[in-house]
Parts: sequence; C-alpha cells; structure tokens
Amino acid sequence: MRKKLIAGNWKMNNTLSESVELVEGILSKIKNYDDRLVLLAPPFTFLYRISGIIKETGVKLGGQNLYFEEKGAYTGEISGKMLKSVGCEYVILGHSERRNIFGEADELIRKKIIRAKEDLIPILCVGEKLEEREKGITEEIISNQVKNCLKDIPLNNADELVIAYEPVWAIGTGMNATPEQAQEVHLFIRELIGSLYSDYIKEEIKILYGGSVKPDNSASLLSQADIDGALVGGASLKVDDFVGIIENI
Ligand code: PEP
Repeated sequence: MRKKLIAGNWKMNNTLSESVELVEGILSKIKNYDDRLVLLAPPFTFLYRISGIIKETGVKLGGQNLYFEEKGAYTGEISGKMLKSVGCEYVILGHSERRNIFGEADELIRKKIIRAKEDLIPILCVGEKLEEREKGITEEIISNQVKNCLKDIPLNNADELVIAYEPVWAIGTGMNATPEQAQEVHLFIRELIGSLYSDYIKEEIKILYGGSVKPDNSASLLSQADIDGALVGGASLKVDDFVGIIENI
C-alpha cells in the first residue's frame, strides 16, 4: 500500500517571519497522520528554522535543489550533506523551473540524483510542455526524461526515489490536467519504472502529480489508481488550501 505524500514547494516566496507563520498555521490545523505524509520544501535560508518547528510533528522537510559535488569552491551552491544536516530527508530535482529558467538538462539532473541518493530521497520531476502534448509526443518526452535522468542509477528499494509528473502547461497556470489525463501518464511512468527496475519497485514507487493542485481538484486527482500524492506550488503558500489538499485525500 503506497502512502500518499503531499509536498509543498514554496519556491522563492516569503520572508522568514512569513514562513514561520505559514508553517505554524499548517501545524495548527493538521493531525498526526499514519496514512499520509506531509512534506515542506521551503527556501534554503529557512530550512534550519523550520526544521526546529516541525521536529516531532511527523512533517518532513525537503530542499528545492542541490549541487552534485560533495563540497568545495561552488559559490552559491548547496550540497546534499548540507541539506541533510539541517533536517532534510528529501530534495526536489529536475523541476521544470530549473529546467526551463536555469537550463538544467537531464544529464545534470542525473548527476544531482546520484549525489542526492547518498543522503536524501530525490523527487524527480518530469513533464511535457504544451506544444509537446499538442504534438502527441507526451509519452516520448516523459520516457526520455525518466530514462536519461535515471540512467545507470540502481534502486534497491522503491522508497529511494519519488517521481513527480508535472505537465509544464499546468504549473502555476490554474490549468490542471484532468484526473484521466494525469492517470494515463502516471500509469505510463509506472510501467516504465517496471521495465527499468522490477515489478516490486513498479508497484511500490510513489508517483506524485503536480500542476495547479487546489483543494477543489485534489480529491479527484488523488483518487486515481496511480497518483500517490501531490507536489503543490501556489496552494502550499496558503494554510487553508494546503491543509484542504491534505485533508481531502
Ligand atoms: C510546482 O511548482 O511544482 C507546482 C506544481 O506549482 P503549482 O501548484 O503552483 O502549479
């Protein structure tokens, strides 16, 4: 049985005091669930403080990115060990904003996943652009991204990696994929993982959906057979919306 995971990607938003208010608001309204996981991915500068606030609540912490080198002269970068040392268990990698604004390609993302796996659980984001969906090449795009980013990366267990399917046209646009569109791609990814790894990993790996998830569309998306949770951007910055998504499962 795959536990649902609801992850909030705060991106580059809020000040420290606003972030503390947000996390305290969320904690005041959620329960200590055994059947679902809640993960927050605040900006790097707030991780340590938020780690202290969520300690012993069961809420997990993740980074939004890392650099693939272990340490050294890489001004402005953050390593996996640094993230782990402030309480992170996860890291988001290959987000479409990293790919499209900062030019990250599959090979770089692959190196980041290899390094991340030493200390953290990578959440690998994949997704097609609108013109790719319109050309009917969604599966080809997703397949290439998954295969390239995971090339020669072993998985001993399904909980060493999370995949997030995030159609680029649905991120921050208010235009979410329908539950059927999302389910179709999720099943495709699950089968692909089965062919790359094993039937066990195929059945157990978590595949999240991301792209304009809100409390009013989350229940129908999350009730699909192969959707194991949500990666939430905009709605994770509002206490009631984020809690609504968690509670609506
Ligand atoms: C995201 O950034 O991963 C995301 C899905 O954003 P939003 O929920 O705002 O579409």
